[in-house]
Amino acid sequence: VAQKLRVPFDAGVRAAARRLPLRFPRTYVEELARAGALEHLRRIGWPAAEENGADPDGLADPVGERTVALDPLVLRKHPDRAILLVTTRCHFYCRFCFRAGERPEPTPADLSRAIERLRDEPDLREVILSGGDPLALDDGRIGALLAELGTLGQLETLRLHTRAPVHDPERVTGELVRLLVEAPRPVWVVVHVTHPAELGERFDGAIHRLRRAGVPLAAQAVLLAGVNDDLDLLEALMRGLYRRGIAPAYLHHPDRVAGTARFRLPLARGRDLVRVLRGRLPGPAVPAYVVDLPDGSGKVPVDWLEPAGPRRWQVRHPGGRISVYEDVE
Ligand code: SF4
Repeated sequence: VAQKLRVPFDAGVRAAARRLPLRFPRTYVEELARAGALEHLRRIGWPAAEENGADPDGLADPVGERTVALDPLVLRKHPDRAILLVTTRCHFYCRFCFRAGERPEPTPADLSRAIERLRDEPDLREVILSGGDPLALDDGRIGALLAELGTLGQLETLRLHTRAPVHDPERVTGELVRLLVEAPRPVWVVVHVTHPAELGERFDGAIHRLRRAGVPLAAQAVLLAGVNDDLDLLEALMRGLYRRGIAPAYLHHPDRVAGTARFRLPLARGRDLVRVLRGRLPGPAVPAYVVDLPDGSGKVPVDWLEPAGPRRWQVRHPGGRISVYEDVE
């Protein structure tokens, strides 16, 4: 891969690679090469020596997850939803990610304990299977998880966040689709995408299998400096999702993960991009531009933030509590 990308595999890169594993599915690399988008692959997947250095704006816990953990595998940022961290593994490791690979891999017993922890949470309406990528688990594990979650009587929906249709579309097999359709609650599949070149033929095949079976689909993307902070590119991405019957739900402002300064951009830049996108796209194709607050309050629309000083924004939550967000230059 280093040869294909024409990048060094020197000591700095090797040291950075210890932060997140390196994994490049062959077919994903080939598809991006065909689309002329290997530069995109380099930007999101290849380690940079700067990941090892000082990063004054980086945070060890960029979205405050330690403050909202009900269990090592359960995060509760919102009263109606909880995130269940079902695996640490992914098909591909995105250098901007804050979560993959940093914990021990959960066992089925760990997950059963975590699900049991949710039984006494009456306000809960939805559990989000996250990780890592839940589709890095095999069908047996996924089926068992869906069945166990089905025993939580208060749940109305389940949600599964994945990049498998992008990095390993053949993972979306007929058997997996059957598990999702026959789950005890509707399972929303939220596909994480970063670039229009990721929406190739094999992606289409996976999406077609899900859509044909009636699996509800949405998408999310992270706005990343030097990767997709470009109006035409964002328009192509959102339009590409929309015409495939996938609702672009969220555009995330990048989290302040230590070592990822190269991906950050100011909130005002994201705001400007989304404002113009709104004029270019049909309403349901415009994602909500959100920021996940570092104090663990969860995602809020960027439009809720008010200026509170140089490089500083704040949001007042219902009830009066205030969260502060420190911006970058
Ligand atoms: S696939 Fe998702 S969880 Fe895995 S590294 Fe990428 S963003 Fe993180």
